Amino acid sequence: MKLIILSLILSINSLYALEKNDEAQKNLSFEKILTELISRYENPSLPAPQMDEETRKELESDDRMYVSVAVSDKRERTKLLELGMDIIEVKKDHVSGFISKKDLPYIERKEFSVMEKKSIYEWAKQFEKDFPAADSAYHNYKETYDYLSQLASANKDIASLFSIGKTIEGRDIWVLRLNSSSKGEAKSSKPGAVFVGNHHAREHLSNEVPLLFAAYLLDNKQNPEIKKYLNSLDIYIIPMFNPDGAEYDIATGKYRWHRKNMRKNSNGTIGVDLNRNYDTTWCKYGSSSSPGADTYCGTGPFSEPESSAMRDFILARKNIKTLQSYHSYGSMMLYPWGGSYDPVPNEKDRNAFIKMAQKMGELTGYDPKQSSDLYAASGDTCDWAYEKAGIFAFTTELEGSSFYPGASIIKTAVEKNINAAVYLLSMTDNPYK
Ligand SMILES: [Zn+2]
Repeated sequence: MKLIILSLILSINSLYALEKNDEAQKNLSFEKILTELISRYENPSLPAPQMDEETRKELESDDRMYVSVAVSDKRERTKLLELGMDIIEVKKDHVSGFISKKDLPYIERKEFSVMEKKSIYEWAKQFEKDFPAADSAYHNYKETYDYLSQLASANKDIASLFSIGKTIEGRDIWVLRLNSSSKGEAKSSKPGAVFVGNHHAREHLSNEVPLLFAAYLLDNKQNPEIKKYLNSLDIYIIPMFNPDGAEYDIATGKYRWHRKNMRKNSNGTIGVDLNRNYDTTWCKYGSSSSPGADTYCGTGPFSEPESSAMRDFILARKNIKTLQSYHSYGSMMLYPWGGSYDPVPNEKDRNAFIKMAQKMGELTGYDPKQSSDLYAASGDTCDWAYEKAGIFAFTTELEGSSFYPGASIIKTAVEKNINAAVYLLSMTDNPYK
């Protein structure tokens, strides 16, 4: 009897939890986020999304000021501490830190020279890296993570979130996993599909497409076709593969046209091209061994933590069958090889590649072609994934006429590419069919 009551309570609880989750998912719905982003670019006067509401309120009501005060020795620093200043940074001729508004006059009265003062809220705002106001619909790293993590917690039955590794600056590279039976890093024998964006920092649209694809799948998880894929496949979505670069690109509120990761090269230049750093015909064609170049291949194959994380992630999951790597721009649907002008030698594979690229080309309006028909590029994700792991891997060059095509392009690019991505899911159990 106890058991029956216990299981009754448990099932009522889980029903309640499911309902709560459905409610939570509604607030994250794909349609809602699309409407929201349209309103953001139709009303560019709206302020860019800043820190979350709670943090903002907390900081706004915080009575402390951030100040820099000229001091020259330890005695003066000690005095400041005694007057109530919280010193967070010590420089040769000044210190910076916090002090409450009511204590500030004591410092000023004691003949200390206050070089700079602002509210703690004003001070904290500078740490928000964000898009220029007109492009505020794009998701920066924190917003991307927050959205993924909300999706995961609103869909606990099917979604989990984990990091595939750290970037060179120590950020996590997040993957949202959709699998009805395995969560987190647990193994699965279901056929796997990977969707990855933002290898290249300035290609921000390539973060939006996989991110919103995740929202779309979860929003439509009761749709019979989507339900079938969610139940039978192991789906991994990594929207922002190069978060260091993406954040650097928007850190000043103006775009920097940054492509690579944030590796500090020995000659003082920044970055390795992550899409030239995979171990396949490494640094042979269409890539540069000069560290300052935008296509710099690095000091060796997989010299970078980001590409190494992808290698380890893929090699640990033998069930992965298909992969889509989003880039921008050019409206193309590319398949291997990129690092050779020759066609893929295996005829069966080649035909499967061509057929799938053509179909995804139809669905997006993009031009399907062998990657090296555009230009040869050694060491890219897709050549490596196919050569070393037999994965049917594609590179989508999204639409647009610049790296910064504005926010109004997100909706159409997302909608078209959702169709192609759903098609790729339909082929993941058997790419030859
Ligand atoms: Zn790219």
